[in-house]
Amino acid sequence: MKKRKLLDLNEAVQHPGKHITFDVSTKLEEVEDLDLVEPLTGTLDAVSTGNVLLLSGSFQTRAVQECSRCLSPVEASIKFDVAEEFPIGGTPGGYGSGHYAEVSADEPSSMFEDNSLLFEELLRQVLWLNLPVRPLCGEQCPGLTARAETTDEGRPEFAALAELLDNREGCGK
Ligand SMILES: [Zn+2]
Repeated sequence: MKKRKLLDLNEAVQHPGKHITFDVSTKLEEVEDLDLVEPLTGTLDAVSTGNVLLLSGSFQTRAVQECSRCLSPVEASIKFDVAEEFPIGGTPGGYGSGHYAEVSADEPSSMFEDNSLLFEELLRQVLWLNLPVRPLCGEQCPGLTARAETTDEGRPEFAALAELLDNREGCGK
């Protein structure tokens, strides 16, 4: 099984006010129903207020989706910002106090293992929210209906007929 990729944010969690940043580049290989043609890249910044861990960053990639009208592939640049916060429990131990603060894992699907972020999980979720809901191959996309009227291929009854004819030809040989 593939090791899950983690960003260790403990340094930020134990030192409120201290920013740590990561340059991130990932192909999000575990995302099956989305085709990234370029790696998702960007910078993620983490800082703790003491009670809350703030994550922010800007990311970009190029993805292929299906045109919502004609189903042909549409490649598009996608840019999005990350702005997430996670509650922190405990007392930061940054000053030799022996304390330890921890990002609260409040759900089973938590994006954290201890104070390490499963950053691909976070990016996957934010990316989904930022994908075009109805991508179009172009403003002028005629859509499935129009295409079916202009070509025989798009109409199921023609497809069935063509198949029938093919079968007949097959029998004759
Ligand atoms: Zn289209």
